[in-house]
Amino acid sequence: MRIAILSRNPRLYSTRRLVEAGEKKGHEVDVIDTMHCYMDITSARPSVRYKGKALPKYDAIIPRIGASVTFYGTAVVRQFEMMGTFSINESVAISRSRDKLRSLQLLSRKGIGMPRTGFANHPDKIDDLIKNVGGAPVVIKLLEGTQGIGVVLADTKKSAEAIIEAFMGLNASILVQEFIKEAGGSDIRCLVVGGKVVAAMKRQAPPGEFRSNLHRGGSASLVRLTPQERKTAVDAAKTMGLNMCGVDILRSNAGPVVMEVNSSPGLEGIENATNKDVAGMIIDFIAANAANATARKTRT
Ligand code: ADP
Ligand code: GLU
Repeated sequence: MRIAILSRNPRLYSTRRLVEAGEKKGHEVDVIDTMHCYMDITSARPSVRYKGKALPKYDAIIPRIGASVTFYGTAVVRQFEMMGTFSINESVAISRSRDKLRSLQLLSRKGIGMPRTGFANHPDKIDDLIKNVGGAPVVIKLLEGTQGIGVVLADTKKSAEAIIEAFMGLNASILVQEFIKEAGGSDIRCLVVGGKVVAAMKRQAPPGEFRSNLHRGGSASLVRLTPQERKTAVDAAKTMGLNMCGVDILRSNAGPVVMEVNSSPGLEGIENATNKDVAGMIIDFIAANAANATARKTRT
């Protein structure tokens, strides 16, 4: 097969591993910089141009679209879909997963466990917003944040009100969420490929920190999932319509709760923690599914 990885940077661990795994399995793999793709979107014969030439017809693409380039990146993925190329994650599913609010609403509708969450832009009744999710302590999140930036723990009602007022002053949309204290500063990252959890790791925040992101100094270790956790991760991926994703779960007293579903999950942390060839499993999934995909209709 001919596979393209849409990535801004060929030197990134995940990109390098996908190239390596694809080539090892006998495929031809190119890395294409998403932001340098351009196209005639009105053409009856859709194509994607790159560095002055039309790109060849790929059997499959693996989009690695950073949060900051979601809008243009998903348009490029859509163009590949119009050409009949299989994308491991569809453009609509990527867009959907990038909107935290939309994601939580969808997961909630499907009855998937999640922390009690309120959403606001300019509430007149901040105390009611806080009360509504069970009262302080609460976690307040900027809707646009990533890697734990813009995620704040407010211990008291007073500090929660002050933080919400500050975000409101910046005109930022926020989520106000029940604090899952019993998670003890750890979360579980499940890597789902093709409806199965293929690898999972526990991330533990450093002392004095509740955010377990590796970028925030968290450390990763192996974890054994309960059947319920496994099912929660698989259901979340399915609800989002993502063939490949990272599902972040907290262990709450009420069972597993999903915090977030990431459509371009990093491979470095999870491959190192589990010693699994996740990149190879992604390539295997594509090899098994790309051929049937051309017959499908592209949703826009
Ligand atoms: P980001 O998308 O920026 O990583 P998250 O919503 O995943 O933001 O939050 C970052 C980290 O903060 C999580 O990995 C988790 O460890 C911790 N965290 C987030 N929400 C809660 C919560 N409601 N209760 C307890 N811990 C939380
Ligand atoms: N590097 C990420 C972090 O700091 C972990 C992997 C991911 O988010 O995909 O949380």
